[in-house]
Amino acid sequence: MQEKTFTVAGGGPVGTLLAISLARHGYRVGLFEGRPDSRQTSIYQGRSINIALSDRGWTSLEKVGISADVKADAIPMYHRAIHGIDSEISKLPYGKEGDAIWSVSRGGINERLLDIADAEPNIETHFEQRLVNVDFKTASAVFRTEGEREVTVNADYLFGADGANSKVRRLAQNLPRFSYSQTYMPQSYIELNIPANVDGSHQLEKNALHIWPRKDFMLIALPNTDGTFTCTLFLNYSGDPSFETLQKRSDVEAFFESNFPDAMAYLERPVDMFMEKTASPLFLVQVFPWSFNRKVALIGDAAHAIVPFYGQGMNCGFEDCAELHSLISKYNHDWDEIFPAYEKARKPNGDAIAELSKRNFVEMSDLSGDPMFQLRKKIEAKFHEAHPDIWTPLYSMVTFSPEVPYSEALRVGDVQQQIMDQIMQLPDIDSDWDKSCVMDQLYKLAAEQL
Ligand SMILES: Cc1cc2nc3c(=O)[nH]c(=O)nc-3n(C[C@H](O)[C@H](O)[C@H](O)COP(=O)(O)OP(=O)(O)OC[C@H]3O[C@@H](n4cnc5c(N)ncnc54)[C@H](O)[C@@H]3O)c2cc1C
Repeated sequence: MQEKTFTVAGGGPVGTLLAISLARHGYRVGLFEGRPDSRQTSIYQGRSINIALSDRGWTSLEKVGISADVKADAIPMYHRAIHGIDSEISKLPYGKEGDAIWSVSRGGINERLLDIADAEPNIETHFEQRLVNVDFKTASAVFRTEGEREVTVNADYLFGADGANSKVRRLAQNLPRFSYSQTYMPQSYIELNIPANVDGSHQLEKNALHIWPRKDFMLIALPNTDGTFTCTLFLNYSGDPSFETLQKRSDVEAFFESNFPDAMAYLERPVDMFMEKTASPLFLVQVFPWSFNRKVALIGDAAHAIVPFYGQGMNCGFEDCAELHSLISKYNHDWDEIFPAYEKARKPNGDAIAELSKRNFVEMSDLSGDPMFQLRKKIEAKFHEAHPDIWTPLYSMVTFSPEVPYSEALRVGDVQQQIMDQIMQLPDIDSDWDKSCVMDQLYKLAAEQL
């Protein structure tokens, strides 16, 4: 058992995984969550947003020793099912045969992790205790209970794992030399639902992530184990069409019917839902530093809130935990070494996945419906199959290659993009893409530039 103690503010997926990791290293941990325990109350009302968990997430969970527990509730999605405006569906695999991203419910995975945390004797979990203040020199923190009582909690170290609107981060903004930027995306989003068939089966293909790409906006659907799909409509906040301009019921009906004709057969009251719900904004936050006085640090969305278009926010937060898990062993519990090493290792990767995620909206909403884009992906997949040591497509590097840091994936992906731009300019590429001359040219360019 270690002498030092930790406070973790925020019992979301990242804070809970971090608490488990610290406890397994022998620390005593107080895990404080502002909301009620979702396992006792119905805060998700049976629904929660879905997360695509990929290899980085699984590898990180494995490192802490808990991936099998979580995978039991996950559904593999092997390809994108792209729904054209003419209701035609085309399939675009995510990687090579057998590669999958996994649909999990955010609420479900959080509850799984909380159950595991409850079984750890070193973790004390507190709900309905909201952090309101931190002393960045001593790591002591003040939490406010539902009854507005204030409790001061002393520990040797504190992690802010309190999400995209982190209070710990907002308090850190008062510290000298703290850099902060928050950028809103043009898009906001609402959640919709596709119910199960009466026999509990899925109305759409289960093992796929469904996308209705419509250039400036898109609808996506991820499967749940109960036969339903959780759908997300990403649409601009203002402009035409947008959440701001689509106010009249008849306009909303026309918008759905003209843009998502096949989905209308499956969606549960989409027009009512659209009229009733308030769209949530999408923003990204970048800060530096991530640690303060070798006493307090940020982790997960609190350190790097990104947009969801690469499906990597939680994966990245889990990787933060895995990195710390390794650094604790590497530096033999010396936190004067661990905090700077953690920040140095993770900050460039947080920035890289923020950039990649922003860019991927165009890929998902516009390009994935474009035949030339699909051809580009086919050429890359074929070349990757022939020369896996030379070329891994960017999506696969981000999603299926946890050994490649996000920052390296971004760098290599930019070079690949330039090479593929040249390949796509070759005459008759749409008919000749499969020929050896195209592969030879790609090999030559890759050997020169990568
Ligand atoms: C629409 C959408 C789709 C997404 N899709 C994906 C995806 O496909 N794949 C993926 O990897 N990621 C995805 N994400 C991102 C993912 O949801 C987040 O990265 C992940 O939830 C971050 O976990 P976290 O624990 O850091 O923060 P959170 O999940 O936000 O948890 C923070 C916790 O802290 C608590 N808290 C807040 N303030 C306080 C306080 N003052 N005191 C105490 N507790 C507090 C909150 O109640 C919450 O429980 C998506 C996000 C959105 C919005």
